Amino acid sequence: TTLGLDDFEVLSTIGTGSYGTCKKIRRKKDGKVLVWKEMDYGSMTESEKKLLVSEVNLLRELKHCHIVRYYDRIIDRSNTTIYIIMEYCGGGDLATLISRCRRDGIYVDEDFVWKIVIQLTLALKECHRRKNGKAVLHRDLKPANVFLDSDQNVKLGDFGLARVLQHETSFAKTYVGTPYYMSPELVNNMSYNEKSDIWSLGCMMYELCALHPPFTAANQTDLNRKIRLGDFSRIPIRYSSDLDMIIRKMIQVEVSKRPGIDAILNEPLVIAHQTHSDRRLTGSS
Ligand code: ATP
Ligand code: MG
Ligand code: MG
Repeated sequence: TTLGLDDFEVLSTIGTGSYGTCKKIRRKKDGKVLVWKEMDYGSMTESEKKLLVSEVNLLRELKHCHIVRYYDRIIDRSNTTIYIIMEYCGGGDLATLISRCRRDGIYVDEDFVWKIVIQLTLALKECHRRKNGKAVLHRDLKPANVFLDSDQNVKLGDFGLARVLQHETSFAKTYVGTPYYMSPELVNNMSYNEKSDIWSLGCMMYELCALHPPFTAANQTDLNRKIRLGDFSRIPIRYSSDLDMIIRKMIQVEVSKRPGIDAILNEPLVIAHQTHSDRRLTGSS
């Protein structure tokens, strides 16, 4: 039996992004707390609607402990709003954590950084696992989209549904976030591959340690130049040179030298830092 809008109770509004509003909801039959994202369905073109629904269907197949679960979608009777129902992450996101550290002048523990690197790599592996064109591209890897659950474990979320729509112009509002995590090959308009995600992951891990991205600039031209050069300073000295080295491998301009997802997971340093539950997932015990 599929559920309808009446089967949920809205608890509160979490926030509004460029493409819709996220609300915390409760499923009445079992009291489970979830999130739904409300998007303006009525103003989409037929092809945008098709694209969005097929993307959500793809996301619903993605079932992994480090990826936000997408459960369902409901379109209201009048066809004005689509409600995308997903797992609720109660531990906040990495962008909030980073700005809180910056404000309070504190750093996160090194063990936490290792845990996040490993869990995010596992999440990316699952996204890329599907071959023959069915790989799920996140499209928007940044600290704001890395959530934590109440046990401080990673849930990669907020998949770029918006980008699906951005190819289709009428609905699109221009996205104006600064692409601090964009890889040099993307800056150079070359094709996206899993190593571009490794670059972005390295940049996010750098920021989790340094509390600022590895490359910053006042304008896009300068940022692009710095990304192409690939020079950045060491993470704060409180972090080990092992961690610095792993991050440096990920933020490597030369794609052929940059490790892929499996190479990261097979790094001896990474294996040494796996927790028991993640060890089961990587298959190395
Ligand atoms: P944009 O998508 O325009 O870049 P955004 O990501 O802030 O901006 P939304 O994706 O609509 O916009 O998210 C709105 C708010 O809901 C954000 O604060 C986001 O962190 C939060 N949020 C999104 N998904 C979840 C989730 N599964 N659990 C908890 N909070 C979430
Ligand atoms: Mg977001
Ligand atoms: Mg978003």
